[in-house]
Amino acid sequence: MTSTARPLLNRRLAEFGTTIFAEMSALALKTGSINLGQGFPDTDGPEEIREAAVRALRDGRGNQYPPGPGVPELRTAIAAHQERRYGLSYDPDAEVLVTAGATEAIAAALLALVEPGDEVIALEPYYDSYAACIAMAGGTRVPVTLRPHEGAFRLDLDELRAAVTDRTRLLLINTPHNPTGTVLTREELAAIAELAVERDLLVITDEVYEHLVFDEAEHIPLVTFPGMRERTVSIGSAGKTFSFTGWKVGWVTGTPTLVTAVRSAKQFLTYVASGPFQYAVAEALALPDSYFAAFRADMLAKRDVLAAGLAAAGFEVFRPAGTYFVTTDIRPLGPELSRNGDGFAFCRALPELAGVVAIPNAVFYDHREEGAPFVRFAFCKRVGVLEEATERLSKLQK
Ligand SMILES: *Cc1c(COP(=O)(O)O)cnc(C)c1O
Repeated sequence: MTSTARPLLNRRLAEFGTTIFAEMSALALKTGSINLGQGFPDTDGPEEIREAAVRALRDGRGNQYPPGPGVPELRTAIAAHQERRYGLSYDPDAEVLVTAGATEAIAAALLALVEPGDEVIALEPYYDSYAACIAMAGGTRVPVTLRPHEGAFRLDLDELRAAVTDRTRLLLINTPHNPTGTVLTREELAAIAELAVERDLLVITDEVYEHLVFDEAEHIPLVTFPGMRERTVSIGSAGKTFSFTGWKVGWVTGTPTLVTAVRSAKQFLTYVASGPFQYAVAEALALPDSYFAAFRADMLAKRDVLAAGLAAAGFEVFRPAGTYFVTTDIRPLGPELSRNGDGFAFCRALPELAGVVAIPNAVFYDHREEGAPFVRFAFCKRVGVLEEATERLSKLQK
């Protein structure tokens, strides 16, 4: 029997409800809309990597519980990737941990490092799992808001400094940043690193879009800055980089102490996951630079199709320097069409109005009013699909 005197869902999770993605994906199905809401590619990654997974499965590699820290082939490949791209040296045995996607890495790191009452600073708008995981760890989230400035969402470093208190335990930094597409600059990262060292904070970096940076932007891991190696848990993932988001292979790199701590939590979450896929991702990470360059060029072309189409349809477009999302401001569409700049109402109406699904950025904010007029569209879709979507959106104003 369930007591009716007490809510079923515990207090830590009560505020979260069902994710907006479920509601919007259901709406997309019902209305036959093009779904640019959730961020997953509509084409699979490289055929040879898919074949590598099939081979592993057939050869009986990874069909039973793989080792807790991940298969040695993958840990070695992750360490080699960090060395080749960033000149970072990690011991594959003591400093690399394979997880069930970046999602589990984030959860395990927060559960391992946060005591009840600790404050965790995250850049707002933030990836939706952050708030829930901070809550499950008993921490208090302290959002620092990225605000539009000269065509991009920017971090106010003074505001970040002011947000640090004696209770601050860690900074959770996502760059390239979902949903805004902001890529933090070398100067911003240097300032964040200085602050972390000065206030002796731990740092978790979410770098799942490390290979998706455009134009002049450059992804620089925060861990490469002075004093950061001993305090940074770096998180990566194969999902976005290789267009296999269903495989759920992610990883953590850090000092033996940090990785051991994260593993203490991880072992009681999934223990292990994605056995055969781990072998395939090991091969993917060793793909030549030409793969990564072609992937980036393909996504850049898609970004340009969607950004141009949204601008032509009357949206204000914040051209993303990274990720596979475009954030727009709907207010230029006018008060009637933009529902007085209410992104929620706009996104609920858009499938009927135009046959396109998008996500209101407000769901990624604590300060919902700050995010109200912003709406996110994903461009990790075939060019023909993006062209059809922009064609539909172009009729909005008519
Ligand atoms: C997609 C995404 C993740 C989750 O990555 P998985 O490897 O699929 O778990 C984490 N952080 C951000 C910012 C993302 O966009």
